[in-house]
Amino acid sequence: MLNPDILHPDFVPAPYWWEAYRPSAGELVEVPRTARVAIVGGGYAGLSAALELAKQGIDAVVLEAAELGFGASTRNGGAVSGGVNVGKSFTGRVIDIDRARAERVLSDAGDAFGLVDRLIGEEQIDCFWEIPGRFVGAWTKAHFEAQSRRLGLLNAAAQSGAYMVPAERQREEIDSRYYHGGMVVERSGKLHPALYYKGLLEACRRRGVSVCAKATVARIARVGNGWQVDTSRGEVAAGDIVIATNGYTGALTPALRRRIVPIASHIIATEELPPDLASSLIPKGRTLSDTRRVLCYYRMSPDGRRMVFGGRARFTQVEAAISAPILHRYMTARFPQLRGAKVTHAWTGNTAFTLDALPHMGESAGLHYCLGCNGSGIAMMTYLGWQTARKIARAANYACSFDTADFPDHPLYSGNPWFLPAIGSWYRLRDRLDRLLA
Ligand SMILES: Cc1cc2nc3c(=O)[nH]c(=O)nc-3n(C[C@H](O)[C@H](O)[C@H](O)COP(=O)(O)OP(=O)(O)OC[C@H]3O[C@@H](n4cnc5c(N)ncnc54)[C@H](O)[C@@H]3O)c2cc1C
Repeated sequence: MLNPDILHPDFVPAPYWWEAYRPSAGELVEVPRTARVAIVGGGYAGLSAALELAKQGIDAVVLEAAELGFGASTRNGGAVSGGVNVGKSFTGRVIDIDRARAERVLSDAGDAFGLVDRLIGEEQIDCFWEIPGRFVGAWTKAHFEAQSRRLGLLNAAAQSGAYMVPAERQREEIDSRYYHGGMVVERSGKLHPALYYKGLLEACRRRGVSVCAKATVARIARVGNGWQVDTSRGEVAAGDIVIATNGYTGALTPALRRRIVPIASHIIATEELPPDLASSLIPKGRTLSDTRRVLCYYRMSPDGRRMVFGGRARFTQVEAAISAPILHRYMTARFPQLRGAKVTHAWTGNTAFTLDALPHMGESAGLHYCLGCNGSGIAMMTYLGWQTARKIARAANYACSFDTADFPDHPLYSGNPWFLPAIGSWYRLRDRLDRLLA
């Protein structure tokens, strides 16, 4: 049972963002018999691929199993990063890759941020887009030092505008004593994720893209030089296929499924807070996250009145009855002044981690894919969809550091992440030990 003390009488177990745009099948668009490109998955990646293909004069159909926006794209925290999280595994560890590759990857991540900024402008997407920067709180002094060592790379490769804030100046960033200082990343933004999604959807529709809800792709088979795609609402003959299913990748593509670890993330939103309290919590309006293995991320709602607080309360999909009290506890550990704040919304969704902690695009058995947001995909999945479209369109200056042949798997992992609850408990314990032993 949910603890009634933390619940607002109007509590709903659904995303706060859905008050502005609720995933809907709309008037069902007929599944076309043929399309030059068929895209499986109708999140940011699928829509951004379709939009760019349409701009290049290539006809594409988006096939979405559920309502439009059912996946993570209307459920996330709305914090848009330009690379600070790239290469960070779900254990919080930053993967060790050589400097030259790290620079290329971060440079592309910086471009992903620029793409979101440009698309919002070009398509006039009204989604509360701002660039207030991010503060990443250091859980221990050692984490603060590790952050300091990463500044140079972030600034050189992704023009992050990153700098350190020592513990004694932390209150300029957050009205809390929880961290040992932290890192500010100026080139970091926030938006309303469901309105950004709605804007991409409308942009696709304006260009005549068929975006088909309730069209689960059950089978893809090679036929001559093309493909036959069987959906729950009919068949499509397509020249190319793009798999854009991220944390919802399933049995349709077993070779991709075993390269993805779907990890749940959870969020709560509070009731509207008294104005003085609301404006004091995050004085510069930045988004926040931290360096714990089991990290939390948070921000104020676009109107500045509610705390929207997320984290891996559990690594698997669990009901609000389990996630909401845990997140409320995490929130009040950072902000004891929010102890009396009631929760109006709690929800969950899937992210997709890869075994090398990097996003991937490429081709598997002739299928194009863009997968593996590793927890941060507003910019990255928009970008990988866009790059996949440019690759299919044979854009003259096409190049993308995430397009590599090596998408690692593991002989002991077939796509069923049964081990996640144990890993979650282990990393929560290690977080506590880090602080105790520091
Ligand atoms: C709680 C939460 C918080 C997050 N916070 C942030 C954040 O603050 N910042 C950030 O950058 N990122 C964040 N993310 C990650 C971000 O939301 C995702 O990376 C991004 O939305 C992924 O977009 P996508 O298009 O790749 O996949 P999705 O939006 O997940 O879409 C995949 C779609 O594929 C469909 N699908 C699957 N199989 C089939 C099939 N066989 N046939 C047809 N359709 C199929 C699914 O129904 C789903 O709708 C968060 C994620 C979650 C869950």
